[in-house]
Amino acid sequence: MRESTVRVGLIYPELLGTYGDRGNALVLAQRCRWRDLAAEVVEVPAGAPIPDSLDVYLFGGGEDDPQNMAAAGMRDSRAAIVRAWEGGAVVFAVCAGFQLIGHSYVAADGTRLDGIGLVDAVTDPGPDRLIGEVLVQPDAPLPTLTGFENHGGRTTLGPGVRPLGTVLAGGGNGDGSGGDGALGERLVATYLHGPVLPRNPALADHLLQWVVGDLRPLDSTWEERLRAERIAAGSKTGLAKWWQQRMLNRG
Ligand code: GLN
Repeated sequence: MRESTVRVGLIYPELLGTYGDRGNALVLAQRCRWRDLAAEVVEVPAGAPIPDSLDVYLFGGGEDDPQNMAAAGMRDSRAAIVRAWEGGAVVFAVCAGFQLIGHSYVAADGTRLDGIGLVDAVTDPGPDRLIGEVLVQPDAPLPTLTGFENHGGRTTLGPGVRPLGTVLAGGGNGDGSGGDGALGERLVATYLHGPVLPRNPALADHLLQWVVGDLRPLDSTWEERLRAERIAAGSKTGLAKWWQQRMLNRG
């Protein structure tokens, strides 16, 4: 049994906190406590250096301007993040966070900005925004994930990088590959908000077991009900889009 407190790092919540991504930190800490494991959420405010002492690094979504501010701080703290990750910490990045742990992304004014390059991925602006419910079949022993997306960027993974999974409904990476996010060693990236971990408790536990090892199962009845309801909503969106496309194609 782990002795030390699990330190869940919530990085720049003022900048990278779109659509309640803070909920991801609360869920990780609470699922530890329900198992009698001590956990704390450590907030790293914008402008502060990111320490190398955290067990989980959560990078949330953000609008373009806050995202640019977050990028500068993350680049300054890159060495600490890499040190922690290589030393066993987990990285979980959502939407803008995902774009920022890639090599680069194009800001709203058209300039290409550097990310921190933990993942071989580049993000370019798309012709429109991808908005709505998403369903993803993970490329890991996990049930179908549900989430919400709202992003203009399209992310292309390098040849050696696996996506988190295959998009069943919605956009995901939106680069034509049919994938969402990225899956690496103790690293998950995704376009799914919601926030995504309260909606997908199995994904939360997947991240936690990298930190604490085998986990005792928890009763997730309510979370599973939410997941089932969201899968139904996502499937409806998928069906509606398919129908609309069919009608448009008929002219
Ligand atoms: N600003 C980024 C984009 O539009 C990320 C948006 C987000 O995090 N929801 O692509």
